[in-house]
Amino acid sequence: MKLLDNKVAIVTGGSRGIGEGIVLKLAESGAHVAFTYVSSDEKARSLEDKIKTFGVNAKAYKSNAGIYADCEAMVNDVVKEFETVDICVNNAGISKDNLLLRMTPEQWDEVMATNLKSVFNMTKQVIRPMMKSKKGSIINMSSIVGMRGNAGQSSYAASKAGIIGFTKSIAAELGSRNIRCNAIAPGFIETDMTHYLKEGEAAKSFLDKIPLGRFGSVEEIANVTVFLASDMSSYITGQVISTCGGLNM
Ligand code: NAP
Repeated sequence: MKLLDNKVAIVTGGSRGIGEGIVLKLAESGAHVAFTYVSSDEKARSLEDKIKTFGVNAKAYKSNAGIYADCEAMVNDVVKEFETVDICVNNAGISKDNLLLRMTPEQWDEVMATNLKSVFNMTKQVIRPMMKSKKGSIINMSSIVGMRGNAGQSSYAASKAGIIGFTKSIAAELGSRNIRCNAIAPGFIETDMTHYLKEGEAAKSFLDKIPLGRFGSVEEIANVTVFLASDMSSYITGQVISTCGGLNM
């Protein structure tokens, strides 16, 4: 018996990086997985095949998490195909870093739509099947930057701080329905998003600030996600789990 046997999970932004790591770890733990992406159909199909090697069902959706109608259509289809939704991981995210003086309204709006409105869009949809089955776990990908702020990342930090407020509010609203809602606040994790941090002098100055002395891996975020998705965390809701090698101390 696996930890997430026969659970149905949705992961936004599951095609690369942390999302891909989460998708594979959920499947390895026994969950059927639906995931979204926006760019490469080929990559999404190949990940779908990889998920199925764990003996679970998989479906990739080209669906923009920042667009309400896309999320509504996606979750409706998942409920039709998989019958319910037990786990929703709101992971899709982008950064358009710029100093405020140079940041355009378009950059601000794009980050807010993809990182924060997406969490509203998806959560509003998945709570219907979760309320029906009287259980559910929603996991939102925040960031330590959402707690500390960071020069040049005001839009990203605001979106990630917004996720924390949303997470705690939904935990309070839906706890009585046995629906839990938590956030993960990763530090620096090795993905396309942080690729530029690994080069030159900048890398050393980042590493010097991390007590564990290294960047994190997608698998380390996926492990926390599986814990929060499973009954192993059945008395945890409204929390932000910092997963950052001690960087937040
Ligand atoms: P990444 O490697 O850039 O991957 C981003 C993922 O999001 C891709 O699967 C991408 O799909 C998808 N995506 C982008 N825009 C989307 C949209 N509008 N709708 C649906 N999917 C969309 O990023 P990552 O580093 O894995 O980050 C994943 C999450 O963790 C983000 O929320 C990020 O803010 C958060 N985070 C990351 C770090 C870190 O150090 N990496 C730290 C703290 C928090 P395509 O492949 O189709 O483009």
